[in-house]
Amino acid sequence: MYKSIINFIQNLYNTKEYIPLHAPVFIGNEKKYLEECIHSSYVSSVGSFVDTFERMIEDYTGTQKAVVCVNGTNALYLALHICGVKQEHEVLTQAFTFIATCNAIAYTGAQPVFIDIDADTLGMSPTALRKWLETHTHMVKGACVNTSTGKIIKACVPMHTFGHPVKINQIIQICNEFCIDVIEDAAESLGSFYKNKHTGTFGKIGILSFNGNKTITTGGGGMLLCNDADIGVIAKHLSTQAKVPHAWEFTHDAIGFNYRMPNINAALGCAQMENLAMYIANKRETAHAYKTFFETIPDITFFSEPNDCKSNYWLHAILFANATYQKEFLEYSNKNGVMTRPAWTLMNRLPMFAHCQTDGLSVSNDIEKRLVNIPSSVRL
Ligand SMILES: *Cc1c(COP(=O)(O)O)cnc(C)c1O
Repeated sequence: MYKSIINFIQNLYNTKEYIPLHAPVFIGNEKKYLEECIHSSYVSSVGSFVDTFERMIEDYTGTQKAVVCVNGTNALYLALHICGVKQEHEVLTQAFTFIATCNAIAYTGAQPVFIDIDADTLGMSPTALRKWLETHTHMVKGACVNTSTGKIIKACVPMHTFGHPVKINQIIQICNEFCIDVIEDAAESLGSFYKNKHTGTFGKIGILSFNGNKTITTGGGGMLLCNDADIGVIAKHLSTQAKVPHAWEFTHDAIGFNYRMPNINAALGCAQMENLAMYIANKRETAHAYKTFFETIPDITFFSEPNDCKSNYWLHAILFANATYQKEFLEYSNKNGVMTRPAWTLMNRLPMFAHCQTDGLSVSNDIEKRLVNIPSSVRL
């Protein structure tokens, strides 16, 4: 059975050579824009590619203001900082996520609290969220307080796992009831829509990543999607050392950050954006091929986009009937030239976050033992 899966993937990618999980593709104006950028000498902290890239992301996602950042982790940290998350606070998030989500929360000094996921989205479960809030918190002067720790729950960071949109409408509604800001970790979901609205544009702020393994890449990079233009202005200001605009004076009015994406990276981003629609159509075709194939394989299901959603299918995922099959397949595929990977170790089992509160995480624990990501690059 495992051999037939490997054969199928090799045919799909039309190669017998090593197949990585997700490789970047440069088939557009990348070289041209990089040359232009170098020729202009504006490779660093000023230059027109940054503005163009931000406008392209605004047009595509429909966000009020997009603000470039050096990477997705820093974009998320800056978003939390802007929402006023501090050491005395707690932040709700998923245990089933990439470490960057929790690292960004940890930089603020706040403690994460881990909420379970839904099996049909692999993202934060609104049902689990409401249940935890109703049993573990109470309101004090318009703030949601964790009854056992006495700390204010300041923000909630749901993540659109592997590009599949979470039930973001319900999460926002619940968080509004409890006066909690929502920051969407949309690092994986550029090109994914929930009910025709782009992921990352529902919460107060959303963030994207353009790391080398994401749907499009700038080498390294990130973006804040600010759904309130005023917050966008603050984000831009703080990410550029909080410099007060002036023709020649060098003055700063806050402790800012050097988080702006260099112009040379943005040049790459502009070229990549031009091909985004093609990449996504290509990845959705791959998803269709995988889905059709895995329907013929017993004990394995291909994970399809949730209802009412259009997913970018950043990383394709299959679910085995049990943990033994998962382990066997991981061994077999990686030994036979096809890169596959289990989901992340749950955050609450890492030493840095082992002391954090959880809601039991029954779905997260189950999915973690059965899921495998399979090759997902754009097919040329
Ligand atoms: C990729 C990713 C990030 C941000 O990563 P960077 O490498 O810092 O750009 C954040 N959260 C999740 C869930 C991610 O997958």
